[in-house]
Amino acid sequence: MKKLTNQHGELVRKAPYPTWPISGELEKQILEDVINSGKWGGSGGSNIPDYEAKLPEFEKKFALFQDASHGVSVVNGTLAITVALQAVGVKPYDEVIMPSYTFIATATSALLFGAIPVFVDVEEQSLLIDPEEVEKAVTSKTKAIVAVHIGGTPADLDRLRQIADKYNLALIEDAAQAVGSEWKGRGVGAIGDIGTFSFQSSKNLTSGEGGIILSNNKQLADKAWSIANVGRVRDGAWYQHDEIGWNLRMTELQAAVLLGQMTRLEKQVERRNQNAKLLNDLLNTIEGIHLFKQDPRVTRNGHHLYMFYLDRTLSEQIDKPDFVKKLGLEGIPSATGYTALNRYKSIIQSIRDWTGEERIYNCPVAERMGDQQTIWITQTVLLSDEEGIYDAAKAVKKVVQSYL
Ligand SMILES: *Cc1c(COP(=O)(O)O)cnc(C)c1O
Repeated sequence: MKKLTNQHGELVRKAPYPTWPISGELEKQILEDVINSGKWGGSGGSNIPDYEAKLPEFEKKFALFQDASHGVSVVNGTLAITVALQAVGVKPYDEVIMPSYTFIATATSALLFGAIPVFVDVEEQSLLIDPEEVEKAVTSKTKAIVAVHIGGTPADLDRLRQIADKYNLALIEDAAQAVGSEWKGRGVGAIGDIGTFSFQSSKNLTSGEGGIILSNNKQLADKAWSIANVGRVRDGAWYQHDEIGWNLRMTELQAAVLLGQMTRLEKQVERRNQNAKLLNDLLNTIEGIHLFKQDPRVTRNGHHLYMFYLDRTLSEQIDKPDFVKKLGLEGIPSATGYTALNRYKSIIQSIRDWTGEERIYNCPVAERMGDQQTIWITQTVLLSDEEGIYDAAKAVKKVVQSYL
């Protein structure tokens, strides 16, 4: 195994990349409005007559941004998926098909209430859920498919819709990483039956923590609202609880920050999208690495992450953390990324606890791509100017060449 050496030469990128999050006076001003109003939570009224609450305004604006008709804000992206699963009718012991290459929350959201994640492999060319593997995994217990738009790249929503319809399953989009992404000209999130986003600190739209559920189906959105509001009924009586729900309300303070952040969003999405295209062109010519597939149906990519992968032969000779460390020494923030979820003992144990069965999932592509080949460049790099993108490409080339 070739190792990192000290003979590194001058680093490629000297200037820092933008820090995250980015905020200004506007966020402070809206926050102050909220503080003064006395309406701090997602329930209860204001001390100021005719005060306009921020959460409904944000829900409307964000839904519109993603081309959806309804938005229901919640505390985070993990529980947003839980609510989406419960809204489409997933019950304990039902199976939910999902990709093995994703953040652990995609699986936890189901396991938290006893729904069973069924992991299927991803496509090597995209790292996205492989629709043919989805179809093979359908059983009489399957209730839903969770498509994860990893890095910001939408999964094949057309093919997944066909499969969902054929087997009468719900299609849920985990769009936590796909703010601003478009599939055939339409914002993701409500292209499936229901979809979810996260506003956790690292995400491309953030209030520190937070999440939202989108849908074009009013009944589903109302059901999601009810599950996130202790089983209340929209426009019902205060102590009317027609079902069992959680309290997952976001606060007005978070909505204030998000409304400020949204005024910067379109420009940031465009910049990441354009810079990623430039980085594609520059990295495309470097021997030893590969770009993920560019599906023409992805008309805009929000790029929470910029991902590429090492050639298999190269990856077998080197240690991925070593590659990432070297990129860091060149001034480029990067990461080794996820381990396939079917490899986590905690998840397999939890599935065993619920089902009484030892389930083994075979996801060789997700395992190999996660362990050995995939490299992430974080979204802040894509917010830099063109020079920053040229520097990132130069650094990748320099690091690859250090192994050849
Ligand atoms: C961030 C993320 C989540 C979870 O969101 P939180 O707000 O951190 O709970 C779920 N799925 C994916 C793919 C994510 O990236």
